[in-house]
Amino acid sequence: MVLAVSVTGAVLPDLPSFVATSYFVGADFLWDGWSAMYSEEMLDAIYFTGPFGGAGSILHSAVPPGLLVILYGMLRLGRRDTRKIVLWFLLGWVGHTIADFLTHVDDARPLFWPITDWTWSSPVSYYNPRYYGREFWLAEHGLMLLTILWLLKGKVVGGTDRDTGGKL
Ligand SMILES: [Zn+2]
Repeated sequence: MVLAVSVTGAVLPDLPSFVATSYFVGADFLWDGWSAMYSEEMLDAIYFTGPFGGAGSILHSAVPPGLLVILYGMLRLGRRDTRKIVLWFLLGWVGHTIADFLTHVDDARPLFWPITDWTWSSPVSYYNPRYYGREFWLAEHGLMLLTILWLLKGKVVGGTDRDTGGKL
């Protein structure tokens, strides 16, 4: 459950671009990938301008989830949120904004919007081979593979705490 909510929080900032890609590109994206986004205007409309770009910028700012984490602490919501579901959702969200901050070169979004429009151009790109995009891809997918193996090992070898009724 904790994993599912943190993954949901981590996916949240990219939801507007997923919807925008479906709207502007449609099924062509499934076959042609990035090359289906054939114009600069289309990329801007998906990621930076209009309702999709605006929503994406809001959700890629660390300010909304950061304020919610502070509010969570101030209101002591952890007492009611005993499984820390809300906290893990917010941490997943913040984690996405930080990961994007560290891996965007010429397509960075303002991390502290609306306080400031300041952006930082990372030396590492999550996709561009001119900025270690290949190395990043290998590291990212290697970590994903290790995570999947670790999760599977927990299910196959160790069992889950459901097997023991939550008592270990
Ligand atoms: Zn993102």
